[in-house]
Amino acid sequence: MASKGTKAPAIGIDLGTTYSCVAVWQNNRVEIIPNDQGNRLTPSCVAFTEDGRLFGDVAMNQTNMNPTNTVFAIKRLIGRRFSETSVQNDIKHWAFKVIAGPKDRPKIVVNCRGVEKQFSTEEISSMILLKMKEIAEAYLECTIKNVALTNAVITVPAYFNHSQRQATKNAGVIAGLNVLRIMDEPTAAAIAYGFDKIAVETNEKNVLVFDLGGGTFDVSLLSIGHGKFMVKATAGDTHLGGEDFDDRLVDHCIREFQRKYHKDMTRNARSLRRLRTACERAKRNLSFSPRATIELDYLYDGIDFSSTISQGQFEELNKDLFARCMDLIEKCLGDAKIDKAKVDTVVLVGGSTRIPKIQQLLQDLFNGKELSKGVHPDEAVAYGAAIQAANLNGEVDKEVKDLVLVDVTPLSLGVDKHDERMMTFVVPRNTPIPTKKWCLRQTAYDNQTSALILIYEGESADSQYNNLLGEFTLDGIEPASKGVSKFDVCFDIDADGILTVSAEVRSSGHKKQIVISKQNGDLTLEEIQTMVEQAARYKAEDEKHKERISLEDLAEMLKSKAIDPGRSASEMKTMKEAGENAIAWLETNHLAEIGEINKQLKELKTTFPALCDEN
Ligand code: ADP
Ligand code: MG
Repeated sequence: MASKGTKAPAIGIDLGTTYSCVAVWQNNRVEIIPNDQGNRLTPSCVAFTEDGRLFGDVAMNQTNMNPTNTVFAIKRLIGRRFSETSVQNDIKHWAFKVIAGPKDRPKIVVNCRGVEKQFSTEEISSMILLKMKEIAEAYLECTIKNVALTNAVITVPAYFNHSQRQATKNAGVIAGLNVLRIMDEPTAAAIAYGFDKIAVETNEKNVLVFDLGGGTFDVSLLSIGHGKFMVKATAGDTHLGGEDFDDRLVDHCIREFQRKYHKDMTRNARSLRRLRTACERAKRNLSFSPRATIELDYLYDGIDFSSTISQGQFEELNKDLFARCMDLIEKCLGDAKIDKAKVDTVVLVGGSTRIPKIQQLLQDLFNGKELSKGVHPDEAVAYGAAIQAANLNGEVDKEVKDLVLVDVTPLSLGVDKHDERMMTFVVPRNTPIPTKKWCLRQTAYDNQTSALILIYEGESADSQYNNLLGEFTLDGIEPASKGVSKFDVCFDIDADGILTVSAEVRSSGHKKQIVISKQNGDLTLEEIQTMVEQAARYKAEDEKHKERISLEDLAEMLKSKAIDPGRSASEMKTMKEAGENAIAWLETNHLAEIGEINKQLKELKTTFPALCDEN
């Protein structure tokens, strides 16, 4: 049996809506880990095919051929309810099928190897996380060194609620990760820019994190200092980002095509998808050169399409969207009650902040202030997460050990005020934990003997818009006139984020409490365990399938190469027979284990070494 390996480093994962990125602290610096295609960003995409599952770039590249089984943007669904408006709006635009599962949670329906399967959002996310884990394992040579890579920090948007955070954490568990922390993306970006050093100084600094990604825009104002990172306010738009800029370019090209050739290509899905890919590439080029060309042979109805677009035209097409980003900054500053002159630094995050016009508008808004863009904007979040991961993992390098680690409540917590749907805030958002806070309540009507305690999480004054975490009934209240009997409600959060809410009647001492664990959220521990086992099974199936295909390929190659006048008759016969035997073996051994298939493969390779080398 393999001995237990040396300790593996912890990794930082930015699980993005469009792209994910994994990084690690090694040799006294952060390394962004490239995937098997050599790319530092991996599309957050999983595809299900006749041959099993595909991930990342490979999954993304086959979308056109297999749209209904190619799943992306799962971050828009995780931890949400199927009936939520945002979910209903999103799924309208997607080719893959989403249905309502138990507890009103969305389920993804796909066809994998000819069988219809349903997956929870946690499971789909876990597949992306597993891919990121494997990218890191390959890079860190975990198998060779016999180390188990499990510890990770995963980032989420600052506005994610308890349920979205918990579901993300569960996805990590299903992927076989030990999630050290779920961290806010803007905080991670701020750490990437070295603000952890500032945090130990006493002077408080205001850092504006501007994150414009593929499909979402998030702006956050952080106050850093006195040993803390605080998210003071967040604003944004969950449907504003790179894809919208692509849309504008696509529309522009469709109009041009119509003008030039009097043909409407909008009903041809394939033409549209090809055009979209070309537009996205042109958009990227426009960040570095004044012009970009879009060229597509046989785009529609046999017509070749070619168009050149300038940076100025691109900016004009997106003018209102860019302006909206700037308006949302003003909103964020307003919510944080901070004047823009008081912003010390502006940090750029997200691939779309490479657009020069965006940078210029930002600089203008902040009166010429230099923008922080030393770290690649689309890698900054993973970069900061890797530093945090190393720190939590006890990789106490001199560089990182000063990092201040405060965990805060991401959202405010409170109770319903007198069952009137009015939220009484007990623990304000961003309160460092552990913490204990009380509120005093009184009876709402004459002779009230019991009170329903509804515990909410969220920022709305109207509790129906917040997230109901739990409820219990406190009885034993002595009948009296309205407002006479009083009881205390206590919120106690321990260092692991577990919340205990208790209520006690002042006069009688009658007490009741509820524990709201952050451990499993919507899924039970059994459900998570089943998903963990299923994930391992899927992985094994994928590997077995790959091995079968390798054997089949080799057998076919033997058969085709056998027909060669340069070979002797007996050689040809041996090769042909070996190939045919291998195919027959595969057909009769459908249930063969991976080891057996591997044995067959090895035997063939040893018998025909020269042939295998040729390939
Ligand atoms: P996520 O939304 O997953 O956080 P990213 O931050 O990686 O994603 O941003 C992805 C978006 O950035 C995509 O829409 C991509 O087209 C865009 N992008 C990447 N590079 C550039 C560039 N050079 N110029 C303009 N947009 C870019
Ligand atoms: Mg991002």
